[in-house]
Amino acid sequence: MTDKLTQESILAALSKVQEPELHKDLVTLNMVRNLEIAGDNVSFTVMLTTPACPLRGQIEKEAKQAVMALGAKSVQVKLDSDVPNDGRMRGLVNMPIRNAIAVGSGKGGVGKSTVAVNLAVALAQTGARVGLLDADIYGPNIPTMLGVEKLPPPNGNKLVPAQAYGLKMISMGLLVKPGQPLIWRGPMLNSAIRQFLGDVEWGELDYLVVDLPPGTGDAALSLAQALPLSGAVIVTLPQLVSLEDASRGLQMFRALEVPILGVIENMSFLDLPDGTRMDIFGSGGGEQLAQATGTLFLGKIPIDQNVRIGGDSGKPVIVSNPDSPVAKVLTEIAQKVAAQISIAALGGKNELPINIVE
Ligand code: ADP
Repeated sequence: MTDKLTQESILAALSKVQEPELHKDLVTLNMVRNLEIAGDNVSFTVMLTTPACPLRGQIEKEAKQAVMALGAKSVQVKLDSDVPNDGRMRGLVNMPIRNAIAVGSGKGGVGKSTVAVNLAVALAQTGARVGLLDADIYGPNIPTMLGVEKLPPPNGNKLVPAQAYGLKMISMGLLVKPGQPLIWRGPMLNSAIRQFLGDVEWGELDYLVVDLPPGTGDAALSLAQALPLSGAVIVTLPQLVSLEDASRGLQMFRALEVPILGVIENMSFLDLPDGTRMDIFGSGGGEQLAQATGTLFLGKIPIDQNVRIGGDSGKPVIVSNPDSPVAKVLTEIAQKVAAQISIAALGGKNELPINIVE
C-alpha cells in the first residue's frame, strides 16, 4: 500500500478538481461522499447538484485521474446527484418542491408552452423528479401537448397529477369545464394558486416548471407573485417588436425579485433541405436582449415542423425526434437552466463539512 493514500491526500487531490459550471472545487462544494480506502483501491461518490449536469463525464474523469496520480491501483467514482433546495416553496406553501422555474414571455404565441413542456421532459429524462404546472389560464394547452385528457381520480381531497413522459403535470385548464372562461383575478388568483398548489399530491420534486400566462398583465403578475419562484426563463422571438415585450416580461420578474435564469430565442431560423438557413423572424434579438439586460443567453431554438406536430399529437419533439437538432438544443437549454439553479442555490455556500465513511 502506498502511504500517500490517506483521506487527507485524497481530499487534497480532489480539491484541485473544479466543478466547471460552479467554478469551485469538489471538496469546497461538499461533493465528495462515501470515501473508502481499501489498500490501494479507492472509491467515492461525487454528489452533483443536478442529474442534468452535461459535464458529468469530465468531472468523473478528472476526479479519477487526480486520485490515480497519488498511486492508487483502482479508483471507482460513482456519480449521484442531490438537487439543492432553495427552500422558498417549502417555506411558503409547505410543499416538498425544491425549485420552481417559471417560463414567461412578453406575449402569446412565441412558444412559451412548447419550451416549458420540452424543458420539463428534458429534465425528467435525466432522472430528476419533475412537475409541470400549467398556469397559463388564457391558453392552457399543455394537456394537449402531453396527450393528457383528464386527471386521475383525486386521492381524498388531494388532486393527483397526471403522469406523462416521466413527469407529473397539473393544468388549471383541466379543472374547469371545457369552454368555460376562467375568471380568477388579482388577489383571488393569488390565494387560489397557493391553495391549489397545496392541494396537489406532487410528492418530492427537484424541479417544478411553471408555464405562466403570457405578458405582464394581471394574471401573469399575480401568479408570479403568488408562487415562490427560484428563477424565471424568458422566451422571445428574434425580432425587435417581440423583444420590447420580452423586455417588459423580464422587468416584471426583476421587480418581483425573481432571479432571471436566462433568455431563450425561439423560432430563430429555418434550415432548408438544400442547406440554406432562413431568418424568418430576423436574427440575434434574443442575444441582444440578454446582453442589454445582463442576463444569460440560453440558446436558439430553430423552427421545425416536428415541434408543432409534437405539440399537436401529444408527443413532445424531444421524445418523438430525440436526435434532431431542435431536440438537442432543447436538451442543452434544460442543462443550462439546471446549472443556473445550482449556481443560484450554492452561490454563497462554500464552507460545508465533509462527510466521510471510514
Ligand atoms: P405560447 O405558449 O407562447 O402561446 P405555444 O408553445 O403554444 O406558444 O406555441 C405556439 C405554436 O407554435 C404551437 O403550435 C407550437 O407547436 C408552435 N411552435 C412553437 N415553437 C416552435 C418551433 N420552434 N418550430 C415550429 N413550431 C413551433
